[in-house]
Amino acid sequence: MNVADSERMLSLMKLEHYKWVNNPDDADLIILNTCHIREKAKHKVMSRLGVLKQLKTHKAVTIAVSGCVAQAEGKKLLEQSSAIDILLGPGKIQELPRLVAEFNATQKKQIAIGFAKKSDTLVVETEDEFPITPETLTGKNEVTRYVNIQQGCDNFCTFCVVPFTRGREISEKPASIIAQVAALVAGGAKEITLLGQNVNSYGSDLLESGVLVNTHDGPFVDLLRAVAQIEGLSRLRFTTSNPHDFTPALAKLFASEAKLGKYIHLPVQSGSDRILAAMKRKVTQEEYFERLAWLRTAVPDISISTDLIVGFPGETEEDFEQTYELVRKANYSFIFSFAYSPRKGTAAARFLEQVPNEVKFRRLAALNSLQDGISLVQVEAEYGQERSVLFHYKSKKEENVYYGKTEHFRLIKVPASRNLLGLELPVRVDGGNKTALTAQLI
Ligand code: SAH
Ligand code: SF4
Repeated sequence: MNVADSERMLSLMKLEHYKWVNNPDDADLIILNTCHIREKAKHKVMSRLGVLKQLKTHKAVTIAVSGCVAQAEGKKLLEQSSAIDILLGPGKIQELPRLVAEFNATQKKQIAIGFAKKSDTLVVETEDEFPITPETLTGKNEVTRYVNIQQGCDNFCTFCVVPFTRGREISEKPASIIAQVAALVAGGAKEITLLGQNVNSYGSDLLESGVLVNTHDGPFVDLLRAVAQIEGLSRLRFTTSNPHDFTPALAKLFASEAKLGKYIHLPVQSGSDRILAAMKRKVTQEEYFERLAWLRTAVPDISISTDLIVGFPGETEEDFEQTYELVRKANYSFIFSFAYSPRKGTAAARFLEQVPNEVKFRRLAALNSLQDGISLVQVEAEYGQERSVLFHYKSKKEENVYYGKTEHFRLIKVPASRNLLGLELPVRVDGGNKTALTAQLI
């Protein structure tokens, strides 16, 4: 989501005749786009600001902090670092050019924070109006791109700061999303990831306001079908899919729509129903496994990943054992596991039974080593398989080496003497590890 927001900021500044540079020393404007999901993310921002403060001693440069740290900390952040000239919340991105101009004219610190209103959302009816072109890219990745379909979140899981930093759930209109994807594909993108905190509830606000009418499979599945029809698009992914609103119709779509590939991220957070209830995740372990079964019925070899939090307040050894057991049973392809980090303003930060750090990190290590064993078996089963790979990256270190992702979302490294970027080609896996497989073109 932050990558997508960063690109939107670059696009807006491009319209003001700014251009991307590779080195902070060459920049007139530096924007730190920040994440507030865990405490560690905020520490990174503060240490980067310390470095940029040095830069300011020998060069005139405007420094903006955008994103969720700006939103959550507000003016306090200006007191913590004198290097900041502009503060910009994630719901106020479109105000960036005005703030930069005003700071440049007055040298007075500028602040725009607060939640997005419906009228703030990007409404694009035609491809021509969409300002993102290949030249505005960060230069990292033209083949795979992101499109926000939904801002904010209404769920208020008790550990999570997102509803406080990104506000309530607002869906972009389908026509606008389709126009954005079409524009990105016209500019060379082959894989699009649709983004929202809870994509399965996409459009519920549009149904309420009468912009959309209810259909058999619901607005998200309808949207995926419509976007998948865009010619030139090879792969369509989405994240994050909250199990609460996950439907059998979405699981079935994986069987009929090849562009969706064979991969889904479905965060569970915990294997203990007691902890899931305290987290307000609204699904039980049994209901979660039911959803995995829908998916595996639709696509038997589908690759599934998840997010897990260990050390949530009140998590006992027995609760953790259940999470461990869940990972053992679920046969995930990847897990993203985190030590619980108390976030100011969230309900769980006020819960009394906080778990000591050493217990959290012990549990985290146990989960990760369990998954390492599972991944090893899966990776070995890949050897000799034929896979379809979309190539998105050319190695800068090794000559004639390209990286891509398989339909199961595994990173794969392939030698080739011709340019493979943006191509989807069959390969045969011949080795590799959990980080990246290796293969030869067929
Ligand atoms: N909207 C997504 C999650 C977005 S946040 C969903 O509901 O699935 C990404 C992940 O960060 C979460 O799935 C969770 O595992 C982790 N996370 C969020 N808040 C956290 C916290 N306070 N401490 C530790 N991990 C957290
Ligand atoms: Fe946070 Fe829960 Fe919303 Fe995900 S669904 S963003 S975890 S509140």
